Amino acid sequence: MFRALLIQKTDTVQTVGVSELDEAQLPDGDVVVRIEHSTLNYKDALAIADKAPVVRAFPMVPGIDFAGVVEDSHHPQWRPGDAVVLNGWGVGERHWGGLAQKARVRGDWLTRLPAALSSRQAMAIGTAGYTAALCVMALQKHGLQPDHGRVLVTGAAGGVGSVAIALLSRLGFEVVASTGRAGEADYLHALGAAGIVDRAELAAPGKPLQKELWAGVVDAVGSHTLANACAQTQYGGAVAACGLAQGMDFPATVAPFILRGVALHGVDSVMAPRSARNAAWRLLEQYLDLGKLDRITGAVALAEAPEAARRLLAGEVRGRLVVNV
Ligand code: NDP
Repeated sequence: MFRALLIQKTDTVQTVGVSELDEAQLPDGDVVVRIEHSTLNYKDALAIADKAPVVRAFPMVPGIDFAGVVEDSHHPQWRPGDAVVLNGWGVGERHWGGLAQKARVRGDWLTRLPAALSSRQAMAIGTAGYTAALCVMALQKHGLQPDHGRVLVTGAAGGVGSVAIALLSRLGFEVVASTGRAGEADYLHALGAAGIVDRAELAAPGKPLQKELWAGVVDAVGSHTLANACAQTQYGGAVAACGLAQGMDFPATVAPFILRGVALHGVDSVMAPRSARNAAWRLLEQYLDLGKLDRITGAVALAEAPEAARRLLAGEVRGRLVVNV
């Protein structure tokens, strides 16, 4: 038997709570993992709070990521005792996920836990932090260098934003953090932000082309914020878009793209190929300051996850939340 958070739906009513489940109930897969830590990502919060159609099959164990140890494997790459991480692949959406003490998954979905990280640190990073790394890689692939100018990070005090600031500043970029939480200025400076802008300046409709302020942008917010960020990106600059905390809409014009050659890079963590995942985890292992990671990480128990999901969606959670399963 193992404990898991379980989302159930009858007609239109969704319930969520901790259940005792039998291993025989686990979905198909060739690797069983004893989960050590999971985490609460924005998507998990949407699923648990029933705020978006994230869950595609019920009952569902939510949790789009986990870190743990292989218990049983019929996959050639994995043996019992291997330390692994999983991010995405529809886990916690279509296939039972990480907010549990056990998971059975496809071995192809697993990534080896980087040697320098504990399972708790890997989940302090979580899918939010791994996505931040994918965004930084997109800017690097574009050719962005620290001497090209400042980099804007939106949704700065959230999970993606916090890790993006820590990574970019360690890589030598001058980072400006956009936040709605003026009270988190000290936190953002400690992560490495050189400057802070009020997110209200970016959140309302703006002109198609604005003063060129940023060489690069990591955007976790979408909507008008993303449109304004593109309109403020300098000639030849790049924007990595991964999130929709403000909205899924993109009320922009093509002006920044056709008049300033700005590039908009979409970033998806769920189906990202293994090579990109491995590169993202290598970047995190090499460049993420673990002292800073500790500073951005809080923890909750499995049973506390529903309340934590509510706080996360209300914008009350700073940085990342590890779930002790
Ligand atoms: P968090 O909730 O931790 O952070 C989101 C941040 O966005 C908040 O902390 C807040 O930052 C800002 N924000 C919230 N509401 C608004 C609003 N109405 N207008 C402007 N800013 C707002 O979430 P994560 O960092 O984990 O995820 C961020 C986004 O990235 C989510 O939309 C998530 O779905 C997406 N994501 C996408 C992935 C992908 O594969 N593409 C993977 C992981 C995440 P502040 O308080 O500083 O203003």
